[in-house]
Amino acid sequence: MPVKDRVEMRKLPVEKRIRSFEEVALGYTEEEAIQEAKRCLQCPPRPCVQGCPVGIEIPRFIKKIAEGDFLSAYKIIKERNAIPAITGRVCPQEHQCEGVCVLNKLKKPTAIGALERFVADWALKEGVAKELAEKEIANRPSNGNIKVAVVGSGPAGITVAADLAKLGYEVTMFEALHKPGGVLMYGIPEFRLPKRIVEYEIDYLRRLGVDIETNVLIGRTYTIKDLLEDGYKAVFLGTGAGTPKFPGIPGETLVNIYSANEFLTRVNLMKAYLFPQYDTPIKIGKRVAVIGGGNVAMDAARTAVRLGAEEVYILYRRTEEEMPARREEVINAKEEGVKFQLLTQPIRFIGNKDDILTGIECIRMQLGEPDATGRRKPIPVPGSEFIFEADTAIIAIGAHPNPLIARTTPEIKVDEEGRVITDSELRTSMKRVYAAGDIVLGEATVIEAMGTGRRASQTIHRDISEGRI
Ligand SMILES: Cc1cc2nc3c(=O)[nH]c(=O)nc-3n(C[C@H](O)[C@H](O)[C@H](O)COP(=O)(O)OP(=O)(O)OC[C@H]3O[C@@H](n4cnc5c(N)ncnc54)[C@H](O)[C@@H]3O)c2cc1C
Ligand code: SF4
Repeated sequence: MPVKDRVEMRKLPVEKRIRSFEEVALGYTEEEAIQEAKRCLQCPPRPCVQGCPVGIEIPRFIKKIAEGDFLSAYKIIKERNAIPAITGRVCPQEHQCEGVCVLNKLKKPTAIGALERFVADWALKEGVAKELAEKEIANRPSNGNIKVAVVGSGPAGITVAADLAKLGYEVTMFEALHKPGGVLMYGIPEFRLPKRIVEYEIDYLRRLGVDIETNVLIGRTYTIKDLLEDGYKAVFLGTGAGTPKFPGIPGETLVNIYSANEFLTRVNLMKAYLFPQYDTPIKIGKRVAVIGGGNVAMDAARTAVRLGAEEVYILYRRTEEEMPARREEVINAKEEGVKFQLLTQPIRFIGNKDDILTGIECIRMQLGEPDATGRRKPIPVPGSEFIFEADTAIIAIGAHPNPLIARTTPEIKVDEEGRVITDSELRTSMKRVYAAGDIVLGEATVIEAMGTGRRASQTIHRDISEGRI
């Protein structure tokens, strides 16, 4: 029997989206969701469930959508995933559940992410999400006023705080920035993940009784030892990997070179795109070069387009096939006019007499044998140097954990990349201190941060209730 095509999500027209920060993907209508859900084969081995880092019962919730029972579908998703409206939007499903869906053999996997998003948005719109949350809040047990500190408010911290608050612990969350949410708030742009959705989840944490203290930098305002001595039974570290890497080439300090982290934080968190209504300015040139090929690079390039840059280029040292960015985001970037300068490696930034960027000396690359990541290694082509004109450069070649906590608490062991070392149950080398998310995994994904966060909260609860700490 021929397999029907996927129902693709409608998107905002390109002419509208390149000058606005409105969400690009528009989601399914009820009819579209039911039509897509009916494509699922409900196959007994359920490879999609194995492909989901938090083990959502995917065929079960899809069956409910096909029957038009969206409430049951929502309840099934929520058994395993606290923030489906977020993961439905940003998870790299093509490498996870959809990547192993049996229909992917025909390149037509069930649109699991779009269906998850549909159900989560339906629940928010109908007020069902709020109703269920109120029940969870009302039914939460008391756990003898045991205090737990959660450091960092990204998806790992959100998961741990919610899990422990629901178990009756008194949870305080400390966040260095003035708004909670981690990368969901300061990194991923509004046009991919509307901030009202992140704010809803943060509000849910507050209603669960979590005390969120912003503008508190652990390692400076208080140390981990201060927290442990202050009556917190356990401390969870979910501080992410937000310190940008630089290529280490001449000219990096020229004017108009940003790290993607700074660029996106200014735009997303400080709302520079609404300047002067918000008082953070951002300067964008006419010809922008974004260096890197991951999600962060695509977000920076698409943001530069929306800020009015005339030409935006991705400079990437491998080919499109090796790009770590989500396929969907590469397509969106191309539709919005971003150009791809592939097999290109910057070797020097060039400035004028006032130290303002005017260009980037680059060298062409060719692909050699696969490296440790399995991707073919880029090798410079001798004598192929050329100048790429650019008046703004945004560096998006990766990030590593901030070294502050490890420096101020040497008992917490880290590896050579600065990632916190834990045992298999997410205990660090310091008693009563646990960690998960990017600070342990290095740059990973939202769902992996949540999955490890869930395991860490289970370990904390076990260690406390079995009297180990
Ligand atoms: C621009 C961008 C786009 C991305 N796109 C995707 C995507 O599409 N899909 C996907 O799955 N993943 C994506 N990722 C990756 C994903 O966002 C991360 O893997 C995830 O957010 C990690 O979660 P976390 O909770 O470990 O840390 P984070 O989200 O980084 O949160 C850590 C928080 O801790 C705070 N903090 C740090 N140090 C301290 C301290 N000393 N004291 C107090 N607070 C502190 C930080 O301010 C931050 O708020 C993207 C990342 C970026 C940067
Ligand atoms: S593998 Fe694909 S078709 Fe099979 S149950 Fe999962 S989503 Fe449905």
